[in-house]
Amino acid sequence: MEVRILGSAREVGRSAMLLKSSNTNILLDFGVLMQREIGFPVHVQPRDIDAILLSHAHLDHSGALPLFYLSNGPRIYTTPLTLELTRLLIEDLLRVSGFYLPFEYIDLLEMMKKTTTINPNDKVKISNFDVRFYDAGHIPGSTSILLEGEGKRILYTGDINDEDTQLLKGANYDIGELDLLIIESTYATEDHPPRREVENSFVAYAKEVIERGGTLFVPAFSVGRAQEIACILSSHKFPYPTYMDGMALKTNEILFRYPEYLRDYRAFRRAINSVEVVTAWKQRKQIINTPSVIISPAGMLVGGAAVFYNQQIAQKEKNAIAIVAYQVQGTPGRTLLEKGLALVNGRPTKVKAEVKRFDFSSHSGKSGLMKLLDKVKGRPKVLMVHGEEPSCVSFAKNVKESFGFDAQAPKPNEAFQI
Ligand SMILES: [Zn+2]
Ligand SMILES: [Zn+2]
Repeated sequence: MEVRILGSAREVGRSAMLLKSSNTNILLDFGVLMQREIGFPVHVQPRDIDAILLSHAHLDHSGALPLFYLSNGPRIYTTPLTLELTRLLIEDLLRVSGFYLPFEYIDLLEMMKKTTTINPNDKVKISNFDVRFYDAGHIPGSTSILLEGEGKRILYTGDINDEDTQLLKGANYDIGELDLLIIESTYATEDHPPRREVENSFVAYAKEVIERGGTLFVPAFSVGRAQEIACILSSHKFPYPTYMDGMALKTNEILFRYPEYLRDYRAFRRAINSVEVVTAWKQRKQIINTPSVIISPAGMLVGGAAVFYNQQIAQKEKNAIAIVAYQVQGTPGRTLLEKGLALVNGRPTKVKAEVKRFDFSSHSGKSGLMKLLDKVKGRPKVLMVHGEEPSCVSFAKNVKESFGFDAQAPKPNEAFQI
């Protein structure tokens, strides 16, 4: 059996892996790299693929999938919630970047016809393999994927979070003996501060900004983080107005139909009912001058109403911008965080508002990933993906030393025998 890393090798983005057995070729994820120019995984022929397993909806895992449906593509297996969220996110990608994409809306529609949904913990047979999806605790609907067949056991973590958040239960599944583990490495070299502390300091900071007459803008991913921020404010009985804008609102509508995927559905409902919905430009222009919290995608400021909010909120000292998510290299969010610059009227401009980072991660930190490895039995090959180069490389070294596993940080398009 062979596994080839088509994307997410020493970078966060375009996750894609190809598993080739004697008679079956299975693709795990096929995402895009979200930078100024959209990047794709190494090309594969649709006719060479028997099935696609999708771990979760984020575009860095799903965004390139419609490429397979220009012609008669393979069947996609994923959770029903991931499927709905994926459609939402790819529709948005087409709206924002359609001109630069090698596929169209019709290809997305074709893709939606070739799908089989599977709930977490259920088993599905794909050729010689039994496939099982486990709740990964990363975003609603997210999963890790276990494949068993032809005498091998293979686990792909996808993006994983082992800690409970307001919105989701942390991942906690049995692993057992493995021959191959493909593991994410986003935060493989650092631990997150305790969640409670981050929540408390975020809420205190939001109050502080509003009480000095400012507006706090929170760019947040439309799936997961936006809702998590709303839940945090609601659970702390936040006394000031909170607005939510953009695609996060559509995500809310979808999540209302999947209560079983959330940790505490009633708390979620309460939180979402307590935010004010923003849908009109007139309202947007008003709220940027209202002492309040504004939650809006895109989480890395690459598009959506966040671009407007960022430009406006950035211009006043009393305002603040809270960075609450991972910022990929080359995105406007990373530039804001590292250089304090925002695009104002098309020019990079020094931001007057305060910029503060809060570590609300939806990825396991170093100890969480090591805990997962601790549960692994056997002597698997371990491949570190979905992390920046230093993170993947030092994670591999660490795992080799701590567990004696054959751990490696693959290079793009590198293949491994198992
Ligand atoms: Zn993700
Ligand atoms: Zn990811």
